[in-house]
Amino acid sequence: MQYLPIFIQIKNRPCLVVGGGSIAARKVALLRKAQGNVTVVSPEICGELHTLKDDGLIQHTKRRFEDLDLENAVLVIAATNQRAVNEHVSKLAHKLRLPVNVVDNPDLCSFIMPSIIDRSPVVIAVSTGGSSPVLARLIRTKLEGSIPAAYGRLAKLVEGFRNKVKTAFPNVESRRGFWESILEGTVAELVFTGHEEEAKKILDEAIDKKAADNSTEPEMPGEVFLVGAGPGDPDLLTFRALRLMQQADVVVYDRLVSPAIMEMVRRDAEIVYVGKERDKHIMQQENINQLLVRLAKEGKRVLRLKGGDPFIFGRGGEEIELLAEEGIAFQVVPGITAANGCSSYAGIPLTHRDYAQSCVFVTGHLKDGSVDLNWKALAHPHQTVVFYMGLHGAPTLCKEMVAHGLPASTPVALVEQGTTPQQRVLIATLDTLLDVIKNEEIKPPTLIIVGEVVTLHEKLSWLKECYVDNSDGVFAYKN
Ligand code: SAH
Repeated sequence: MQYLPIFIQIKNRPCLVVGGGSIAARKVALLRKAQGNVTVVSPEICGELHTLKDDGLIQHTKRRFEDLDLENAVLVIAATNQRAVNEHVSKLAHKLRLPVNVVDNPDLCSFIMPSIIDRSPVVIAVSTGGSSPVLARLIRTKLEGSIPAAYGRLAKLVEGFRNKVKTAFPNVESRRGFWESILEGTVAELVFTGHEEEAKKILDEAIDKKAADNSTEPEMPGEVFLVGAGPGDPDLLTFRALRLMQQADVVVYDRLVSPAIMEMVRRDAEIVYVGKERDKHIMQQENINQLLVRLAKEGKRVLRLKGGDPFIFGRGGEEIELLAEEGIAFQVVPGITAANGCSSYAGIPLTHRDYAQSCVFVTGHLKDGSVDLNWKALAHPHQTVVFYMGLHGAPTLCKEMVAHGLPASTPVALVEQGTTPQQRVLIATLDTLLDVIKNEEIKPPTLIIVGEVVTLHEKLSWLKECYVDNSDGVFAYKN
């Protein structure tokens, strides 16, 4: 290790910045974040520093640097554009054994500044030892994405319980086990979703309970995460979905969740497949609802993973209804619904100023297998209609849309296995849709998009080169 990472307490302590330009201003901002008492020495200062000075937030010594300026300072940063001045400040500071940083010149530094991820009081510092600040920044960006912004709030919340936990668990091992379960479990999730009061209550009760029965394994109540996994491409998962996928004890999933996404769930989680394919339900919905309740009551953290968004034709509402009745904790994580995923990947904007001012999502499959929709409201010019589960009812769809006034030439897109490597996009019209479905042997999951926006596909699709124009006016991808 080339440098020792440490965190310095500078709260209310004098820090000196030599130089008054924008780079100096950035350093001043950092020092102020850590509540340092900042003095800037420079004949001139930039607008940003001026404002701080006018607001009484920093001191400004309006002249060139003098050796005496270093007296009292606990830390100094040289950020002038004059190498000789920077060198002089560095030399003097080294002599006084005063920590010094010279911007962009590691050779003159006794300390260097890392890239910072600030989730105060959690602070993560990344350094490449000055070898590549850009790489440090890239690493920082990766960490920023995977560390929820709410970690700071979580740290603050648990801080208030440290003494209580120390008393309840005198043994270091058991204390560590307890904190691990808290920081990865329900309490953390409640904080992340903004339910801090509930989190405190559960934490408080868990400590009391453990203190009473003196066992090491804290017993947390089970819970269910109803998570939208998006339409197939794992890149479309949310950060929260991924985090919960890696925490669950048991995963209950169905056919629409892609194998690539299942690859990302916790390795040692128990996996339960509950099927759901038209007319081939491995498990009835009522039984799925009951299963979730039973698993949660066993104290498990249950991930109910669903394709797309759980609340869009996903029966998520029914599943949480029973959980709510049974008093089981749950949270719902939205996912990218098939309409969004498929339309983006197929280059078909769902709305467009020139073509469609409204967009409707409908299911083409009702409980009893019929397709009974308000066709009058759907068959509207300047409106995009997206049919989920529409293959089976496609004959009715084509017939009714035309009967209610849409031209038979209205363009229709079929997106099969959207957003996955197997995605196929076929363009037809209300007139030719049934032929395309038959000839191309379209299978579920397929989304049907009806409306003028479909014409934009040719212009906006990434896969344009695969496009062929059949003599009968039906467009299709070459396979
Ligand atoms: N909750 C899901 C929808 C479940 S209904 C969501 O929000 O996306 C199942 C229907 O969604 C399928 O019949 C199909 O019409 C559509 N669908 C889901 N994933 C799809 C995909 N990757 N490609 C095409 N259609 C998809």
